[in-house]
Amino acid sequence: MKKKQVLFTFDYELFLGAKSGSVNNCMIVPTNKVVERLNQYGVKGLFFVDCSYLYRQEAIIEQNSKAKTDYLTIKNQLEKLIEEGHYIYPHIHPHWIDAIYNVKLNEWNLENSSKYRINSLTIDEQNQHFDNAMKALNNILKDANLHYQIDAYRAGGWCIQPFELFAPLFDKHKITTDFSVLGGAYKKGNTLNYDFQNIEFNASPYRFDESVNIKSKNGKYNEFPISSILINKNTLANKVINKILWKIPYGRNKGNGIGAVFKNFSNTPSNYDLSKEMVSIELFTINKLKTYRKYLEQNNYMQFISHPKMISKHNLDVLSLFLKKINTKYEIESDWRKIKI
Ligand SMILES: [Zn+2]
Repeated sequence: MKKKQVLFTFDYELFLGAKSGSVNNCMIVPTNKVVERLNQYGVKGLFFVDCSYLYRQEAIIEQNSKAKTDYLTIKNQLEKLIEEGHYIYPHIHPHWIDAIYNVKLNEWNLENSSKYRINSLTIDEQNQHFDNAMKALNNILKDANLHYQIDAYRAGGWCIQPFELFAPLFDKHKITTDFSVLGGAYKKGNTLNYDFQNIEFNASPYRFDESVNIKSKNGKYNEFPISSILINKNTLANKVINKILWKIPYGRNKGNGIGAVFKNFSNTPSNYDLSKEMVSIELFTINKLKTYRKYLEQNNYMQFISHPKMISKHNLDVLSLFLKKINTKYEIESDWRKIKI
């Protein structure tokens, strides 16, 4: 059987705008549901845990019993994920620094997104926040039976540029592998801000040194890029399916928050291929099943990026169909540590 590398990565986080939503609806319940499917087919997940959030949460749990319950529920879930062989790694969203906790709602307001990217902080603040967030992750994992090193990272909102800001932080915390590159993607805005046009949308893992955009054979760091598929979003079938799914509970998630507001500062380049779409469980609808399978036929590496808070029952059913099919056709490697670059 042909070997294929398929990675299932997740941003384990609340909503990052005016309303964070609840821990149960955005993290715990949807994560359990998706992990059930992964376990059923024997594939591993990589969970990038928003540890900027953990850092803020940690500070309020002694005064707020509901916040403490949330924290302990997350701790339990992460320990269980590790027991089951999944991976936990850090994910940092610096604008948590300015988040405001609402005691009554037991939710956060992250409307102030002025610190969305790490380069909005001074070098000292960057260092401090990275340290605090890493410490919060280590605190919550202190009782877990860790069977690996915390040596991988995903930047909040794919904002890993300029990498020269991250290199010293990576070195300090012994992080060697990045998962933040979305090959071919470009956005210049108030929150999301990245340019990965030098990397192919179907890139395989590679090494790099100073810039995630420049591959370097013997580079110091590893990059496991997120994959994209090319899909015509304007077909009638696509529009109809999305419209129907949006109207029924089967097609929607119960994630109950409001995301960060995104404003574009500049237009996308004229040669930009708008049919590119990230490979993701929350975007995986039945009309795309063929395209995903074809992608894997033509490529040996595929990385999903998903957000439990966005995944619907329909997405899970399509994921199961996909996993079932590819498991009979290929030998699937879902453990990134077994992938040689
Ligand atoms: Zn995130």
